[in-house]
Amino acid sequence: MADKMLAVMKKNKAPGAELDYVEIPKIGPDMVLVKVKACSICGTDLHIYNWDNWAQNRIKPPLVFGHECAGEVVEIGSQVKRAKVGDFVSAETHIPDQTCYQCRTGKMHICKNLKILGVDTDGAFAEYIAIPDICVWKNDPSLPPQIASIQEPFGNATYTVMESDVQGKIIAILGDGPIGCFAVGIAKAVGAAKVFAVGEFPFRVELLKKMGADVALSIQNSSPADEIMEQTSGEGVDVVLEMTGAPKAIEDGFKILKKGGTFTAFGIPSDKILFDLNANVIFKGAKIIGINGRLMFQTWYELSNLLNNKLVDPSPVITHKFPLKDFQKGIDALLSPNKESGKVVLFP
Ligand SMILES: [Zn+2]
Ligand SMILES: [Zn+2]
Repeated sequence: MADKMLAVMKKNKAPGAELDYVEIPKIGPDMVLVKVKACSICGTDLHIYNWDNWAQNRIKPPLVFGHECAGEVVEIGSQVKRAKVGDFVSAETHIPDQTCYQCRTGKMHICKNLKILGVDTDGAFAEYIAIPDICVWKNDPSLPPQIASIQEPFGNATYTVMESDVQGKIIAILGDGPIGCFAVGIAKAVGAAKVFAVGEFPFRVELLKKMGADVALSIQNSSPADEIMEQTSGEGVDVVLEMTGAPKAIEDGFKILKKGGTFTAFGIPSDKILFDLNANVIFKGAKIIGINGRLMFQTWYELSNLLNNKLVDPSPVITHKFPLKDFQKGIDALLSPNKESGKVVLFP
């Protein structure tokens, strides 16, 4: 094995990223080395690329970033119990310390000392990645690498839907990013009676339709909240999955939520928001659920059941594929002003 590999690096405390040859990661006793077959670009990676406030406070260059991946185990540490050389794996990206209260009470995904792969540690936009054994997920060997690489965000969508009790319910999914699109397919697969999906950009609204939305609306040419209230005879929906973090979407989400309904919050607002607790929650008798990451590993078993049994086909959301060396083309596709892209998958 050569000792250098191609990787996408954040080298400087500034916008952008660079391709370079770096050392292949050395693994600790509780880690595995994976030869990356496919990796996909996440919104988090765009924050790192753009070097926004969040990135400036969190990222310590030099860093190989990227976290969504699939590949083959080529080396295991001496204490690794589950993974074997040759396994086809993906990574849970939340790295728990396995010692805190949350970890010891079945909530590893919100570990108090959580580290994130490709954010706090070197990541997946490379030919090789070192993954802690606890985060290794064994894939069905028949799963195509590009699908295997998007399981982490697909898992966010799975967790959001599964927590929200959508079976037989009229629901609204707010957000046209890949996770909103995945959530539409998952909600239909697990028995939501009717899915209203609300997006912004025409290309993405088409994706929401392709993923099975019964009604797909755009905030560009209508008032989706009014439309949904009209189409539900003024009752509103049983469940809102909020996947944008935009203050207006959150406000609309509570407006269209039926009394006694469930509001599941996944989208992250960029700042504090003004919020009417009385009208939106207390007098509405609403239930609010916060979603962070994926349940470790209940969500992974569920998402695998959905993918392996072909109950959801996420492939319409994968709109671009490039070799890793064309990383910049992938970033450009995602940053296009009209968002004419879904998920971008890179192949080292
Ligand atoms: Zn991600
Ligand atoms: Zn912990």
